Amino acid sequence: MCEAAEKDLYAVLGASPSDSLKELRHRYQQLALQYHPDRLGDASSSEADSAVKKFLEVDAAWRILSDQNSRRQYDLQRRAQELKQDWPVDSTVYLEDMTWDQGQCVYTYSCRCGGRFDVSVEEVEEETRSRRQDGEEEEEHRGVVVCCDTCSLSVYVTWSLHSKTLFFK
Ligand SMILES: [Zn+2]
Repeated sequence: MCEAAEKDLYAVLGASPSDSLKELRHRYQQLALQYHPDRLGDASSSEADSAVKKFLEVDAAWRILSDQNSRRQYDLQRRAQELKQDWPVDSTVYLEDMTWDQGQCVYTYSCRCGGRFDVSVEEVEEETRSRRQDGEEEEEHRGVVVCCDTCSLSVYVTWSLHSKTLFFK
């Protein structure tokens, strides 16, 4: 399972993150049929081995992506991972763990250098609205990367659309 977590599960299924569950299922079924151990009657043992490996990989990917909750978790992880490639993100912070600063109208979080990470209500609001129109049920989390106001660290701030901490709702 550790290996599977490092691979892009969507790529394993030959699918893309925007695919619906139905499309993912279709991809999975095609691949599962193609690599199913039962179909390897006359294959050499090394071919059979790699097919079995592929089959297990496809099966593991499908098990994670077919479940709404585990897919959401995976999507979040994946997104944080993608962001890391652009610039270093040191950790993930949940918006509800941040402190509301009434004076400045920002959510704030202390950096270990003594500086702070600030997210304005506007930023949260804008990001929350940005991809809501596509009606994807799976996309129930939002996030932004925030830089420390003092050092070069940055964190990925994430929140659920159902979070009670969203002040503007
Ligand atoms: Zn800092």
